[in-house]
Amino acid sequence: MTEFGFIDKICARFAELPLNGFEGIGDDCAVLPVADGDALLFTADLLNEGVHFLRRATSARELGGKALAVNLSDIAAMGGRPVATLLSLALPPDAGETWAEEFMEGYRALSERYGVALVGGDTTRSGQGITINVTAIGRAPLSCIKRRSAARPGDVLFTTGALGASGAGLRDLLAGRLDTPAAVEHRNPRPQVEEGLWLGMRREVHAMMDLSDGLASDLRHILDRSGVGAEVLLERVPVAEGSDLQTAACGGEDYKLLLTADAEGAGQLADEFLKRFGSPLHPLGRITGTRELVWLQNGNPVPLDWHGFTHY
Ligand code: ADP
Ligand code: MG
Repeated sequence: MTEFGFIDKICARFAELPLNGFEGIGDDCAVLPVADGDALLFTADLLNEGVHFLRRATSARELGGKALAVNLSDIAAMGGRPVATLLSLALPPDAGETWAEEFMEGYRALSERYGVALVGGDTTRSGQGITINVTAIGRAPLSCIKRRSAARPGDVLFTTGALGASGAGLRDLLAGRLDTPAAVEHRNPRPQVEEGLWLGMRREVHAMMDLSDGLASDLRHILDRSGVGAEVLLERVPVAEGSDLQTAACGGEDYKLLLTADAEGAGQLADEFLKRFGSPLHPLGRITGTRELVWLQNGNPVPLDWHGFTHY
């Protein structure tokens, strides 16, 4: 069974249970409307040694930063401000005190950078391998929250940065090249917290998510949940230096934002984003009413069966 087949089954099994005010499973975060027109956001991510990282290919400090960054990215993906996290660690005997202290220093430094509190968690022994689970909590005005389900036909599709660096970095790491720029980027993702907050406040932005599994698979989540399709122009996909088009489209863990914006306001949105952040919004296609994902090369459909990265 695929990861998403399993999640669908979970949703079906729990369909009759009360949601107690929450919006249900299926977005980057769970959303709970609270007082004063605000909402709380909740997200959890798991990092497993051997599946998500290799201990010999990353420092403990980098891993501490990454474990937090991937969760902050999910808060940013909905236009939220991260406020607190809970951290659970299962550590085997061969990850000793020094390893744990360096890990916590990486986690602390990024928490400080974004003003995020650590408010709980759990610590336990592991028989084998390190497991890290972070739950992050964010907050935003309900009116600023951007969901995967809000794309509309005619919208322009944007990413907030070039793609494929992390995928190229993973290839470097697996080949033992630990110090290439791409490998360093793979181990040190920067969550786009300021960008997400800014985009959350913009009415032109309809749907948004973060790119954790790769454009080819993440875009399908926006299409499925919005009941729309998309045309992606291959020549417009922004490829990070040292990467290639297929890695940019299918590689995971870039943690850039993927968003759709009203066609009428899209040009101004991009202009103001560039002024605010000094880096462009990359338009790479548009949303259609067909429910299909079509890759176009110079205007012609290309039959690519591209999918993103999956751990399962
Ligand atoms: P993301 O990549 O943004 O972390 P995923 O694509 O992994 O999100 O997950 C899709 C949705 O399924 C999310 O809303 C997530 O919270 C939910 N989900 C994933 N695994 C489980 C699980 N074991 N139980 C309940 N919900 C889950
Ligand atoms: Mg996400």
